[in-house]
Amino acid sequence: MEDKREASAAFGQKTSDGQKRAEASRGTSGQKKNYQRILEDTIARHEAAGEVPSVLLHSCCGPCSSYVLEYLSQHFALTVFYYNPNIYPEEEYRLRVREQERFIGEFPVRHPVSFIEGDYDTGRFYESVKGLEDEPERGARCMKCYRLRLSETAKLAKERGFDYFTTTLSISPQKDSQVLNEIGRAVAGEYGVNYLFSDFKKKNGYLRSTQLAAEYGMYRQNYCGCEFSYRDRQRENAG
Ligand code: SF4
Repeated sequence: MEDKREASAAFGQKTSDGQKRAEASRGTSGQKKNYQRILEDTIARHEAAGEVPSVLLHSCCGPCSSYVLEYLSQHFALTVFYYNPNIYPEEEYRLRVREQERFIGEFPVRHPVSFIEGDYDTGRFYESVKGLEDEPERGARCMKCYRLRLSETAKLAKERGFDYFTTTLSISPQKDSQVLNEIGRAVAGEYGVNYLFSDFKKKNGYLRSTQLAAEYGMYRQNYCGCEFSYRDRQRENAG
């Protein structure tokens, strides 16, 4: 088995047909992996076993979480973890948290969804991206930012005994799912908890998130989140 955290080591048979298909779908080194298919195989295995695993879902914002909640809440018991110390300024952070909580409260789901707000410890974010402030979006600064948020999610998932952790981040067309899932795999190894592999931009996930955001009248920001992405967007708008 490539990585016991890659699938449901805690559930079902470790060498099930579903898992073998999932392994095969990853291809060989250097090829893009089909993380949506891996997720579908994971879901199928749990459904066949009559299981509803718990997932700690890191969320970056309400709009991105909308499709993910619609999809995953049919199969998992979700707790949304809002840990985003990268967001600037604080008013923006507070606005995004409120929108996240409002959406969870209003959206009908099959399995109940809980909510946890993490610490708004901006110092940790600035420390982790020190020296990378002028990197472009999707560059080295963003890798550190993803890792910080996924690490905190994995840590909490381990402490509270969640079956999996994952993130909404892959829904964004600006975010590379291959990179995010590899960070998820690495962090899962560090903390000893399962990462739920996924690629939420598949199956028109991003389009669906825009529809849900409009339907629920959600605030949708026009920059990724940090001070540096805000600065870059301001420059673009001015230029
Ligand atoms: S651009 Fe987005 S992902 Fe990159 S460091 Fe800023 S907030 Fe994080």
